[in-house]
Amino acid sequence: MDQTRRRVAVVGAGPSGLFAAQSLVKQGEVPVSVDLFDRLPTPYGLLRYGVAPDHPSIKSVATALAKVFDSDGIRFRGNVTFGQDVSREELLAAYDAVVYAVGASEDMKMGVPGEDLPGSYSARQFVEWYSGHPDARSFDLGGLRGAAAIGVGNVAVDVARILAKKPETLDVTDMPVVVLDELRRHAVEDVWMIGRRGPQHAAFTTKELRELLEVPGVAVDINAECLVGIEESGLDRRAKANLEVLRGLAHRHVEDPHCRLHLRFWRRPVALVGTTAVTGLTLESTYLDEGGSVRGTGRSETIPVQLVLRSIGYRGTPLVDLPFDTKRAVIPNDQGRVCDADGTTLPREYVVGWAKRGPTGVIGTNKSDAAQTVDKLVEDLVQRPAAGDVTRLDLDAALAARGRRASSFEDWLRIDAEETRRGGALGRQRTKVSDWAELRALCGMG
Ligand code: NAP
Repeated sequence: MDQTRRRVAVVGAGPSGLFAAQSLVKQGEVPVSVDLFDRLPTPYGLLRYGVAPDHPSIKSVATALAKVFDSDGIRFRGNVTFGQDVSREELLAAYDAVVYAVGASEDMKMGVPGEDLPGSYSARQFVEWYSGHPDARSFDLGGLRGAAAIGVGNVAVDVARILAKKPETLDVTDMPVVVLDELRRHAVEDVWMIGRRGPQHAAFTTKELRELLEVPGVAVDINAECLVGIEESGLDRRAKANLEVLRGLAHRHVEDPHCRLHLRFWRRPVALVGTTAVTGLTLESTYLDEGGSVRGTGRSETIPVQLVLRSIGYRGTPLVDLPFDTKRAVIPNDQGRVCDADGTTLPREYVVGWAKRGPTGVIGTNKSDAAQTVDKLVEDLVQRPAAGDVTRLDLDAALAARGRRASSFEDWLRIDAEETRRGGALGRQRTKVSDWAELRALCGMG
């Protein structure tokens, strides 16, 4: 590798890490080489394992971002877990700067009885399963008739849409064959989406809402009283547009639906019912008190569901040896420069994406977010003299000593080719490889 370039490690090859790498190679001030690390042998993170398989246009962002790997001086280093295969100290010894792009890996819990029963999962678990994540648990959907998504954000919309669609319409996607076969076993007739506040407070975006309401063969009902008496003057454009779309439901009739989607606002989950598995979900009506907090009215109802997916947001988790703001669940930072507990910026360490600002925004939000961090990083590199001929830690040797080898972009291209081949044989663009052993074998790791 060119010794005159400054070396930057990016930990996490999801959208925020890729945007950071793109920003780093595009800036013209300081020549850099970038190593993009990931725990998985595949790049793209949430683009591959979070964006819905029936949203190929968002996935095409990956195609655009993949171009960053054509840049001179950029390498993918998959199959390397930070804090396990490589330490913070080692990265700082091997690189001039380290950017953490690790996302928010913990799911929020509802804290209600029955939440740990079989049949109750986080939406992320379900999403990872149908997206072919190698660590995903498998789902048994046989006999499933009723399912509820808790929360009214875009993740709830995604899982509700996947469950409401006729399974065979998903055959065109890149879902693994085992997943498509399992989805065909469900007989979902009722999908519920539960908002603990009003439709004016919903977190979903209008485009995603509209798409959900327009799934062919799905009849939608809403507790209509939630649309009455809303003070709209202070609402933002998105909230107003959402209300308009929801009000339009009154004029829509679906002949002979295969599934009903029930939108329930001003309801909160208070218990999951069942002895050995979920059989129902108890909801309590809610209102906002004077301080704006959600309160229960004491009136409740139980809906028959066998699957409850909580889609109530994510939370960042601490990285080994790094400062962590437990209140905001982010790596503390000043415009992307990592800070310690008393707010002093640490030299040579940076953060981007959800680990920097929390789990908000769409994929594109990470572009400007990464650009801000990279601006600061480059500013610091310009100020700091190059390390000259200081001997850097040989990370590959350190990994080899632990019996580890980083997978490369060429390894990923072999996985990519195999997925395209499998998909092609089925008349699809791609069919994902979701098995660790197969992924390792394709990387030549036996
Ligand atoms: P989110 O947008 O933060 O929505 C979370 C929802 O859960 C809110 O409706 C929230 O209600 C509710 N909630 C939180 N705690 C709850 C509790 N204890 N009980 C009941 N409801 C609760 O989170 P998300 O849907 O996971 O999405 C995360 C980010 O990814 C968002 O920025 C989203 O836009 C993005 N994303 C985008 C796409 C896309 O662009 N197609 C797809 C998926 C995800 P309150 O408002 O009352 O707290």
